[in-house]
This record gives sequence, structure tokens and C-alpha cells, in this order.
Amino acid sequence: MDYTTGIVVDNRYLYHDPGFGHPESPDRLLAVYAMLDEDDMRGRFLRIEPRMAETGEIAMVHSRSYIEHVASTAGVPCTVLDFDTVTSADSWDTALLAAGGLMNAVDRVMEGIVKNAFAFVRPPGHHAETGGSGGFCIFNNVAIAAEHARKKHGIKRILIVDWDLHHGNGTQHFFYEDSGVLYFSTHQSPFYPGTGSIGEMGRGEGEGYTINVPLPRGQGDADYLWIFRKLLEPTAIAYRPELVLISAGFDICRGDSLGAMNVSEHGLAGMTRVLMNIADKCCEGRLAATLEGGYNLSMLARSAKAVLKEMRGDTRISNEELDKISEKAEETTRQVANNVIQRARRYWPL
Ligand SMILES: [Zn+2]
Repeated sequence: MDYTTGIVVDNRYLYHDPGFGHPESPDRLLAVYAMLDEDDMRGRFLRIEPRMAETGEIAMVHSRSYIEHVASTAGVPCTVLDFDTVTSADSWDTALLAAGGLMNAVDRVMEGIVKNAFAFVRPPGHHAETGGSGGFCIFNNVAIAAEHARKKHGIKRILIVDWDLHHGNGTQHFFYEDSGVLYFSTHQSPFYPGTGSIGEMGRGEGEGYTINVPLPRGQGDADYLWIFRKLLEPTAIAYRPELVLISAGFDICRGDSLGAMNVSEHGLAGMTRVLMNIADKCCEGRLAATLEGGYNLSMLARSAKAVLKEMRGDTRISNEELDKISEKAEETTRQVANNVIQRARRYWPL
């Protein structure tokens, strides 16, 4: 049987335990895995087996001293890496499995075995910097997977879209002077981690290849879709990525315990569709998503389901519908996005 969409799922992702009451708990994946077992989901996706990343692969992004520091936490019941990020005895192995899971997803997409894939892994990654952890993240899974895709598959241009509630400081910084990755982030601002202002657009060779859209709280489907259609889509198509990666955070969902955004599962399916349209136009649909945030368990599961149905083609939101939804975008959203568009015009045909 041919599958359109692959999923990375493994019970070992539950073993990283940042401690009682921590929002980034194993329950998040338990909720997603239960959803994947529902009647309309079970058996419809290719199960992609994860693997442990090798230390040399982690070192494509992270410093040797930081990797050794994380390795030293193996078997230790509790180590505080930073204020937000705590390891348990199995966190080192789980973090290697998270990076390796997304790399395997990227490989299956690049090989054409599936058109697209979603890695339901933890710990998340986009806050992890070269030399340290941050915001529940140990290794930067999406940055490692992008480096892996370039090295193994020889591709020259990767689009990373980070729709998580928070700015992906680690990912931005790693590719800041690099035109081989276009990093696009929407995020709540002002908010953790404090980076991601409109003026941060890359440096040197990477100038113009970082685009940030910092947003006030309360943004919903119309706002995100307006930004995706008017700003992201034309920029991305001009860039012609050979692979699209998504740092998929579901903490922008309505009712999230950390965020104050108002996106529905239908909105997330629409955002996915815009990215699929970009991938269809530029790179035969090649797209891989990885789980970042998302702390309201029922919204996380429902939204991930809507995203997967769109990825698989069970639902297919038309451009007409996307534009109809986005017509209701708030004036403040349009102002922020238009500020970004003014600056991005120096580099992109907007
Ligand atoms: Zn987040």
C-alpha cells in the first residue's frame, strides 16, 4: 500500500520527564498517540521508525562541550539545564531519538517513499542554541534535520516555517548568516524568548533570509492565513525551496495554557495547506513537520489531527476558502505584516 504521509511515533519519546507539573510532559504525546489510534486515523499513515542521532550529527549544530554536558546527564534522575529545561535519566537518549526521528522523516520524504511526514517527538527543539538548552528544548531537531538534508541529499535551499507561539531563537541564530535556509517565524510578542523582532532579517550571506512576524496576543485563523498568503507564500515561491520543514507548535491554539492566541484546528489545516501549496509548486510536495509546543492536550490532539488530514489529502482547503477566511484579518495584524512586507521588499518580490 502506498502512503502519502509518514508519522514518527515511538513510546520511548515518553521517557524524557522534566518533572511533575511541567507543561512539556509525556502526556502531550500520549494525547497525540491516542488520536492516531482513532478509527479514522489508524493504519492510514506510514510508520517511520526513528533512530538515535549520532553525536557527530548533533555536532552539525551544537558545540562539543554542550553535547558532553547533556551526555553527562544520562542515568542521573534530575539535572537542571536551564530555568525551563530539566532532564531525567533517559533524556539524553530521548533527545538523540527526537533528532534521529526527524532525520528519518526527512530521509523518507527525500527518497519519495512518502510525500510528507510528521515527527511526533519530544523534547522539542527550536529554542536550543548551539551552546545550550532553552525553553524545554535540548537539541535543535529542525536545525539538525536541515543540516542533515543538505549533507545527505545535497539540497541547496530549505524553507523552515516556525508557526509555534514562541520565536525559534535557536533556529534563527544557527542559520542567521546562511542563504541556504529561509527561516520564517510568526510568534507572540512581547513574549519568551524575547527575540524575533521585525528588524532581525539575517546578516551577511543570510541577509533577507530571516523573516519575523511578531504578533500581539489574540490572533486567530484569519490573521495567520492573511500573513501566510500575503507574505509567506510569495516569498517562499520566489525562494524555490527544495524541502519545506515546519516547526509545528500547537501552542497558538485557542485555549493553550501558555499562549494567548486563538487559532482553531481548521486554521491550522489552512496554514498547512498554504505550505503544501508552496511545496507542490517548488519541490514535488516535499514537506516534513516536527512537533514543538502545544500544551492544551485536547486542542493539541484535535489540531494535529486536522493537520494530518490536510497532509494526507483527506481534506483539501481551496485558495478561495483560505482567502475568504483571511479577509477577516485584524487591522493591527495587517499593519504588522505590512511593516514586514515593506522591509522584505528589498529582497523579495512582494
Ligand atoms: Zn512554543
